[in-house]
Amino acid sequence: MEFEIQGVPVSELAREYGTPLYVYDAEVLRTNYQRLRENLHPAVDVFFSLKANPNISICSYLGSLGAGAEVSSLTELITAQRAGVAPENIIFLGPGKTTKELRACLDAGLHAVVCESLEELEALDALAVEAGLTDVPVLLRMNPDFQTKGGGLSMGGKPRQFGVDLSVLRQSAASLVRTLRAARVIGVHAYMGTRILDYSDVVNNTTNILSIAEALCEELGVPLRTVDFGGGLGVPYFDNEKELDLNALHGEVNAVIEQFVERHPQTRLIMELGRYLTAVAGTYVVRVLYVKESMGERFAVADGGTNHHMAAVGVGSFVKRNFPIRSLTRYHDPATAPITVTGPLCTPNDVIGKRVALPPVSPGDLLGVERSGAYGPTASPVLFLSHGYPAEVLVHDGTPHLIARRDTPADLLNRQHLVRF
Ligand SMILES: *Cc1c(COP(=O)(O)O)cnc(C)c1O
Repeated sequence: MEFEIQGVPVSELAREYGTPLYVYDAEVLRTNYQRLRENLHPAVDVFFSLKANPNISICSYLGSLGAGAEVSSLTELITAQRAGVAPENIIFLGPGKTTKELRACLDAGLHAVVCESLEELEALDALAVEAGLTDVPVLLRMNPDFQTKGGGLSMGGKPRQFGVDLSVLRQSAASLVRTLRAARVIGVHAYMGTRILDYSDVVNNTTNILSIAEALCEELGVPLRTVDFGGGLGVPYFDNEKELDLNALHGEVNAVIEQFVERHPQTRLIMELGRYLTAVAGTYVVRVLYVKESMGERFAVADGGTNHHMAAVGVGSFVKRNFPIRSLTRYHDPATAPITVTGPLCTPNDVIGKRVALPPVSPGDLLGVERSGAYGPTASPVLFLSHGYPAEVLVHDGTPHLIARRDTPADLLNRQHLVRF
């Protein structure tokens, strides 16, 4: 029995759209989003971080479910706008916004621009005056003085290019805020790290950020209209990892939020999430080209590899840990023997899975890397060996939609200029 998505056999998708292929299940996106929504305090708005999956249809679908958008580049901003997310539900952040991007934010009339330095705040203010605007809403991204261990990268609580150190905000932001002519600080943003799987980290983050935000806005003499307390909720990929406990989260985080809401019923609360909203809905589908053996180890060489799925390499850990990899052709068959799954690149690092326990694998079989809906091709060296971007398909109500076509040689070559010698 092969793998099916909403009754559509994966072999049909592979035949229609080719491989390598990213397949997303809209039903999983929806149930996942709604389960989070039901467990989260109603005062908290969920914003989708496009960084995790910048496809316009994914954004539009999550938007239709009620998610706002957190964008970090001009193209991501345009994506969210075209996907139909209302400007009052879009925020723009990132440590290196260009003048062009800041102007686009002003034109768009976003809920807020998240300023990551006092210099940027001054620059935005000047641009806003130039554009004849008043009351341009701004969130100050702070780098607080506490850390979150979490599972993944820590983004705050130590020297970082992101945001403004809390101590600097306390020392010098008040005088700057008073001199602003068009930009208006309406609250605070903080993002502590990614891949958090322990709910108590979320509780601590939320508690700390809300209380710092409250004190800081008081000190700066600015209203507390919005607090974005980040997110970074993770999904388990590896054997030793466990699903985030949504029930516990529901109880304890919401209690913290409820206390805050009682004091500040008018404040908008935002949680921005990328991985958590999309990861489990996506499968990276590759076709096995060759099965071979080298010095006692079996290899399945596939038509796609880490060029589309860099995360599968497992950078940053000594022991390679495998993403969940399944035979999509023999989806329910028991594993018989370990086999190493590699891609088409001419580098020994192009290993999607090391000694994966799989049912028998033959050339022509489809293999899938599951939980791959976040940080897939967008975070991978897709141009390596000039393979280009894979196709992406979203299955919705039993109907597959091509949401990004694969790059052709012409796509890749048309951007280059031939100088004949
Ligand atoms: C990357 C990033 C996100 C999304 O992180 P996830 O772990 O995918 O949820 C949100 N906010 C900021 C500031 C980020 O840098």
